[in-house]
Amino acid sequence: MAYFLLAALALLVSRFEGGLAYIWLANALLMAELQRSGLRRWPGILLCCAIASMLSTALFGMGLAAAVPMALINMAEALIVALLCRHFAPGRDLTGASKRPLVVFVLALSLPANIITGLAAAYVASSLTPVSFGASWLQWYSGHVLGGLIFAPMLIMLCQGDAARWLRESSRRSKAEAVALLGIFALFTAFIFYFARYPMLFALLLPMVAIAFRIGYLGAAASVVVLAIIGGMATMTGYGPFHMVSGSMGERIQFLQLFLAFSFLLIIPIAAELAQRRRLFQLLQESEARYRAIAEHSGDVVLNVSVDGVIQYASPSAAEQLGWEQGMLIGRDAADFVDPLDRGEVLRSHRRALAHPGDVQTVEFRPLPATGDLNWCEMVIRAVVDERGVPTGVISAIRDVSRHKARQNALQRAASTDSLTGADSRRAFMDKLEDELRRTANGERSCLLLVDIDHFKSVNDRYGHVIGDKVLSNFVARLRPGLRGMDSIGRLGGEEFAVLLVGVDVHRASLICERLRDLVSGQPMRMDTGESISITFSAGLVELSGAVSTTELLEAADKALYRAKHGGRNCLRLAA
Ligand code: GH3
Ligand code: MG
Ligand code: MG
Repeated sequence: MAYFLLAALALLVSRFEGGLAYIWLANALLMAELQRSGLRRWPGILLCCAIASMLSTALFGMGLAAAVPMALINMAEALIVALLCRHFAPGRDLTGASKRPLVVFVLALSLPANIITGLAAAYVASSLTPVSFGASWLQWYSGHVLGGLIFAPMLIMLCQGDAARWLRESSRRSKAEAVALLGIFALFTAFIFYFARYPMLFALLLPMVAIAFRIGYLGAAASVVVLAIIGGMATMTGYGPFHMVSGSMGERIQFLQLFLAFSFLLIIPIAAELAQRRRLFQLLQESEARYRAIAEHSGDVVLNVSVDGVIQYASPSAAEQLGWEQGMLIGRDAADFVDPLDRGEVLRSHRRALAHPGDVQTVEFRPLPATGDLNWCEMVIRAVVDERGVPTGVISAIRDVSRHKARQNALQRAASTDSLTGADSRRAFMDKLEDELRRTANGERSCLLLVDIDHFKSVNDRYGHVIGDKVLSNFVARLRPGLRGMDSIGRLGGEEFAVLLVGVDVHRASLICERLRDLVSGQPMRMDTGESISITFSAGLVELSGAVSTTELLEAADKALYRAKHGGRNCLRLAA
């Protein structure tokens, strides 16, 4: 029915030369209908419109003889456009955020569809009417291409329910603005077509662009329709700037349609671009909100740091977790909050993160200012990139790992000290000995003293194992005052200890050993239980220089110790 009405109207008002109509909106409706319908409904739609086309041609157009061919040609045009759109931009919304469907539609309509059907229609028209082939082709082409361009998008939006959605979703304020803008535009158009003394068509472009910006796609399409209706009526009733065209009414109408097509091609892409940007902006806002929610409720401190290390954002947890007030962070150099000892490592991680945008870097550092028990942080860094993949900064998640670090240190300490005596564990002592051996390779002189308590078994036997333990820890405590800060004492096993005397030769080491002997055996040890126990030790001394390995060193010291035992105990022997 609608196809018939539009076709009949066009034939009644725009067959200026008795051949084809100059204005043709009926196919815009058909194309809009095909665009939004499934393939299965196409035959029905095409059949209905073909009948409507035949009736309108027979009753108001070129007559019965042209009815069937013109119907076929009309259906062919709409079908070619619909098929090309389906093939090259399948399932995509002509008026959506992507511009591809619109481009496909414009190209399909203006190139294959109407060039081909125009030839067929011109053949029919030139055979049945006095209008020439060329003029008929131009009439068809301009009427169909321009009618399709101007009305199809608007009709598709109406069919898709875009207008209804807009009415539902827009605020009262933006509806009022849309009505006001389109109303003013209609009045302005009427003024230019009916009253202006000069051809002021260019003045219409400004409000059209403004409408595209303010109301969007729907507003842009509506403004083209308003312009088409007012301009069409004025031109056909002898008003408006197109009367300056010295030609037939048909030519003026063609000119009007050309103007409408250019207006359409100017503002619809603007509206499409704006719609796309609005959508992107919305996505960006959503992602920003999501990210912010994560950052602000995360237990970790989240920082955004620029490429050159300036803090741009800090999550609220910075204050509660690290004592860093947000105000004191923003705009400051991130390195200011890192202990100078760790700054180099942190800066290297920052640079690595920027150099490898996909990777995550992890670094531990001591924060500044140091507060109480917060003394170690772990930071995970990742680059943030722009749309070209170029880093614009980094995002860091920082957490307090002080307790973890403290536990780690405690474990390390436990592994490196002997729990009974507090001396170094065998392992820790051997590491130190190894380090010292390397140092002495460069000319330093140091000595290793191997110490074994004499007749310790009998201490255990007489006083018991518990007292034996006390004697052992007492023994180490008595040795300590005789050693210097850089010296080390380690428990190698049982009641056998080793002392590393740093920076001394054998002579001085012997003197130190004698001092130790005095400290241990000068006075008996007084136990809580009342007993006083006297002990002595035997020792073997060896100088580090010249030794190849710690094993070799220990063997030499052990041999000297063995000789001391055999030499009557409570004495020192030097390695050979
Ligand atoms: P000497 O070295 O003078 O030849 O005689 P000694 O009695 O010290 O001989 P030996 O080295 O054979 O004995 C060491 C004893 O030390 C044996 C063991 O019962 C005791 N002992 C080893 N470790 C511990 C310990 O952790 N606590 C106690 N209470 N005794 C220990
Ligand atoms: Mg012993
Ligand atoms: Mg022993």
